[in-house]
Amino acid sequence: SESSPQVLSIQSHVVAGYVGNKSAVFPLNVLGFEVHSINSVEFSNHTGYGKWKGHVLNAKELAELMSGLQINDLDNFSHLLTGYVGSASFLEQVYENVKQLKEKNPKLVYVCDPVMGDNGQMYVPKELLEIYRDKLIPLADIITPNQFEVELLTGKTITNEADAIECMEMLHQMGVKVVIISSSVLGPNGTLTAFGSTKGADSTEVWKLDIPRLPHLFTGTGDLFSALLLAWLHISGGNLSLAMANSLGSLQGVLHRTSAYAEEQVKQGKPYGPKLLELRLIQSKEDIEKPPQTFKAIRL
Ligand code: ATP
Ligand code: PLP
Ligand code: MG
Ligand code: MG
Repeated sequence: SESSPQVLSIQSHVVAGYVGNKSAVFPLNVLGFEVHSINSVEFSNHTGYGKWKGHVLNAKELAELMSGLQINDLDNFSHLLTGYVGSASFLEQVYENVKQLKEKNPKLVYVCDPVMGDNGQMYVPKELLEIYRDKLIPLADIITPNQFEVELLTGKTITNEADAIECMEMLHQMGVKVVIISSSVLGPNGTLTAFGSTKGADSTEVWKLDIPRLPHLFTGTGDLFSALLLAWLHISGGNLSLAMANSLGSLQGVLHRTSAYAEEQVKQGKPYGPKLLELRLIQSKEDIEKPPQTFKAIRL
């Protein structure tokens, strides 16, 4: 039988709820990917609750886990997926590991979500920007920044579609084959726009997809999105428009189910908040297996 793709996913773990590895591993498994998880934090719940307890993995602990894999020849991966990182020392260690993993498997596909902030605000230490820009991004094959993160990485403000395209080209120049802007606010009010750009041998394909914004603040959606994209880009052999449409179709399925659940619970008297808005991921297994064909990407 064919061997399954093997993903190393370095992301947060929460006991209750769905962010980080908790929102990435299940969909990857459902789509046939074996996932090897390194939990970069072990928290009771995501930080959007305002209060949480738990432990943060440090750089030395990450290096130890990687060396344990190495000495047993367990470090042969087809894909590496990284998300939120909270410290410069941890990100530097991730960089060392990316180099090692690419040495071991030169075909390793590295999907980097350079999580730094949103809506004009950075929520990680400032030093992370230059580490992403100068070290991680040049080694990444696929990146999934949001609009603000693209602006940080390129030093350019995005106010229209042409700016978005120019920024994606700058990121290609930094060595990235596939750039996906997970969300931007360039479209009409009430919509989020995703962009994707893939650099081929002699041409670049650019795609755009508008998504209706639901009136809730979800958490874990960025992590779910990068996992779905990794999966669909692999399954489709690099078909970016299909990967974007399928990933965003599944994501909307999850978010509609989550909204409907939250609204129903509120009607029954439950207090509105992050607990009701935890992604209804397991309940959405069918939307992950067979992505609803809700959206079609437009070629720019
Ligand atoms: P990251 O923080 O991981 O770098 P991000 O800020 O783009 O990325 P999200 O804001 O979670 O991450 O957006 C990822 C995707 O989730 C969007 O493309 C969109 O499809 C979906 N999404 C998130 N929030 C909403 C919402 N309120 N309504 C509709 N879709 C949403
Ligand atoms: N990891 C942890 C521990 C978090 O608290 C959060 C958000 O609160 C996330 C990851 C990121 O979630 P998202 O995918 O919405 O960016
Ligand atoms: Mg966002
Ligand atoms: Mg995120």
